[in-house]
Amino acid sequence: MTAIRFALGQNDIPRQWYNLLADFPEPLPPPLHPGTKQPVTLSDMTAIFPENIVRQEMCPDRHVDIPDEVRDIYALWRPTPLLRAVRLEKALQTPAHIYYKYEGVSPAGSHKPNSAVAQAYYNREAGVKRIVTETGAGQWGSSLALATKLFGIECVVYMVRISFQQKPYRKSVMETWGATVHPSPTRETDFGRKVLDADPDCPGSLGIAISEALEDVVKHPSTKYALGSVLNHVCLHQTVIGQEAIQQMELAGEDPDIIVGCVGGGSNFAGMTFPWIQRKLAGKKDYRIIAVEPASCASLTRGELRYDFGDTAGMTPLMMMHTLGREFIPPRIHAGGLRYHGMAPMVSHAYKLGLIEAVAHRQTKVFESAVTFARSEGLIPAPEPSHAISAVIDEAIKAREEGRKKVILFNLCGHGMLDMSAYEAFLAGKLVDE
Ligand SMILES: *Cc1c(COP(=O)(O)O)cnc(C)c1O
Repeated sequence: MTAIRFALGQNDIPRQWYNLLADFPEPLPPPLHPGTKQPVTLSDMTAIFPENIVRQEMCPDRHVDIPDEVRDIYALWRPTPLLRAVRLEKALQTPAHIYYKYEGVSPAGSHKPNSAVAQAYYNREAGVKRIVTETGAGQWGSSLALATKLFGIECVVYMVRISFQQKPYRKSVMETWGATVHPSPTRETDFGRKVLDADPDCPGSLGIAISEALEDVVKHPSTKYALGSVLNHVCLHQTVIGQEAIQQMELAGEDPDIIVGCVGGGSNFAGMTFPWIQRKLAGKKDYRIIAVEPASCASLTRGELRYDFGDTAGMTPLMMMHTLGREFIPPRIHAGGLRYHGMAPMVSHAYKLGLIEAVAHRQTKVFESAVTFARSEGLIPAPEPSHAISAVIDEAIKAREEGRKKVILFNLCGHGMLDMSAYEAFLAGKLVDE
């Protein structure tokens, strides 16, 4: 019997997060205050985030201890499984060995609770009673709703109105975990009222939702904001994924040649790959590490590396990152989690330093790959990691053509059971490339 599942026990959950900031051969350019153009200070940031999280965002240490209470919650679903996709290998008739780390076993169905739980913990430690955020498709909102409930914090989510209407189950997931969900624009904020007065049928956008969330934070006591991707501390929290994968590949007795992940804001990719980049920088092996983005929102392969705002409204600090420009409105592709104009500064920096590669894939090919995967491995992947699968299949076919065994590892960062309308469109032949 071929070994396909590489299980770890509860004691193997990492005790520390890994911080690539400590190992970059060149320092990461700091975020700038949009007014003064000087590096942001602690006090600039503590208006919206608790101080302990701001300190972590700027932390230079290579390793950061994971608090026991956070590890105890991680144990609800971590360590996550690592599997070898032998049936996919057969279907592709490839000599490649394909492994995937499956983050869809978390209660929210994706990797996002890895950071949501940590953020809720630090907010609770800082005495925060209420956390406000925005969500597009609802994955981040649901992860934060879960995490805040476990730490006894109130959660308020501004959800882009069009998603609120099109994805009613995500709203119900958030409400089941006790969050209050507003379709944005709302009449609850000055900004929302202004938008609705101008256009009562406004479908909303992430930029509007962020503006409403930030206004809410500033106007309420004991309230802070939380972000589910892009920032350094979010990338840090996700490194449990790659650290576990390193232990599991050892159990499998193989070292990957190629490591693949999808990128939206960059957090699941960072989580899987940064611990491997540490090994690469230490000279262990020259891993090929590939970030896969949607062709219609290709910030790494088509964007510019420059300072830009993290949000559409221009309220955040300026970050040095690959960006399509904050005014860029991505087409309505089905991988909602990948529709972001920018890219995590840490991922952008790794790309600039040549530590990673990037490719862009079209959504029709991505869904073809997703269906191929589902029909061989069973799991129905979320549209976002299906981008990674599409690149993995390309590499596996290349290995077949070259007649060479390659070991490929990728991050299957979420399941697609709440994305079936996208599959329905694909299977009905209604999905198009923008
Ligand atoms: C949010 C999300 C993404 C995109 O965010 P990253 O920060 O790039 O990881 C990708 N996949 C899934 C399943 C998501 O929920």
